[in-house]
Amino acid sequence: MRLSPAVRVSRYFMPTMRHDPSEAQIVSHRLMLRAGMIRQESAGIYSWLPLGFRVLKKIEQIVREEQDRIGAHEILMPTIQSADLWKKSGRYDDYGKEMLRIEDRHEREMLYGPTNEEMITSIFGDHAKSYKNVPLMMYHIQWKFRDEIRPRFGIMRGREFLMKDGYSFDLDAESGRKSYNKQFLAYLRTYARMGLKAIPMAADTGPIGGDLSHEFIILAETGESEVFCDKALLEFDLTKTAIDMDDADAVQAMVDKVTGPYAATDEQHDQTAFEAEVPEDRRVTARGIEVGHIFFFGDKYSKPFDAKLTTADGEQVLVQSGSYGVGVSRLLGGIIEASHDESGIIWPESVAPFKVALINLRQGDEGCDGVCEDLYAKFQEAGVEVIYDDRDDRAGVKFSDMDLIGVPWQVIVGPKGVKGGFVELKNRKTGDREELPADAALAKLA
Ligand code: ATP
Ligand code: MG
Ligand code: MG
Ligand code: MG
Repeated sequence: MRLSPAVRVSRYFMPTMRHDPSEAQIVSHRLMLRAGMIRQESAGIYSWLPLGFRVLKKIEQIVREEQDRIGAHEILMPTIQSADLWKKSGRYDDYGKEMLRIEDRHEREMLYGPTNEEMITSIFGDHAKSYKNVPLMMYHIQWKFRDEIRPRFGIMRGREFLMKDGYSFDLDAESGRKSYNKQFLAYLRTYARMGLKAIPMAADTGPIGGDLSHEFIILAETGESEVFCDKALLEFDLTKTAIDMDDADAVQAMVDKVTGPYAATDEQHDQTAFEAEVPEDRRVTARGIEVGHIFFFGDKYSKPFDAKLTTADGEQVLVQSGSYGVGVSRLLGGIIEASHDESGIIWPESVAPFKVALINLRQGDEGCDGVCEDLYAKFQEAGVEVIYDDRDDRAGVKFSDMDLIGVPWQVIVGPKGVKGGFVELKNRKTGDREELPADAALAKLA
């Protein structure tokens, strides 16, 4: 999806707030409201305003690219599902009050999907019949609804939220594990590209057992779960190691390496094992945010849906599946929790709503306007996403708004610079500033 390459603040809808809104308890919620990214419509239900929408789409795109890279196919299933599907798996009753149940005009029971295992298994089972159809992975990025008891922290625990949910289909458990491993590494890459350190932690597999479930957790003081891990995991950088995703042994070795050191959420934590395995100076006890969860569940859904495949020997076997979720909208909050300062958000370039904020310190001054308009056009030609603060407002307002919305680079144009033939370039993250000719700033950012 192509986002508009450039906007003028004077004609944009970016309702920033000077003061902290009283309803927000944590920094990411506060900053998203102050930056005019979201607006609450009901408890846990939000509108995404232009700036928030841009970041949401950037995050979604990174998730998409990493799914496509491992050969998963994108589809789109509906938000509204028939209760029949869920009765078949037995989850219609199990899901309880978190499920939003709806009745249509014909008094048919429907629901707003909280996840899609049933639907995808029924789609797959209807059409795929043979070993030749697998291995297969499909995913979609779609709104979910869960009627959370306590929606809070803004989009972090919403009731309506955007999730990527992927599903794998394999002939046997061994092949299923390979699909799981590919997703596992794709997840590490996905989060790393957003500037996040997400630690895979062993998670509860429920009645199915096995070791194939991991939650991906980012550390943050405001996280809802308590987590325990080996410091080594914080130092690990997967993006520095190239790996051939088709080489199953290499993939397995990498998964083993990352899952070797101790890591567990409170539900799985074993203090004795933690102390035995991890030397005291490497023990990390912290709070974490669950930004993803992957799970291999074998024939849990293929059984009720009778999704069978014919093997090469003509035998009928139940398809082996896994599901792979990423909290796309929750990630906005997670990234802000991990990257901000007292002035506002600091977006990593990969998900920033714009790369450059062009700040005109004296709107209406012929020289300043000329340099800004020229740069605004040239950034667009160079394919650099730019937000141009062309408001007839005080410099202080522009500085604080642009710091607040966290665009990685600021190009500041004032009368003194125009006279001397330079602009000022400021890095939002480091605060470093330099003066250089406009063309040089352009070359540096293009
Ligand atoms: P949580 O433990 O936070 O309630 P979950 O374990 O119920 O999450 P999963 O069913 O594993 O969630 O869904 C996959 C991902 O969707 C989660 O890892 C999380 O990032 C995201 N997610 C789940 N519930 C919400 C929510 N209410 N608001 C925003 N994102 C959510
Ligand atoms: Mg939940
Ligand atoms: Mg959970
Ligand atoms: Mg989970």
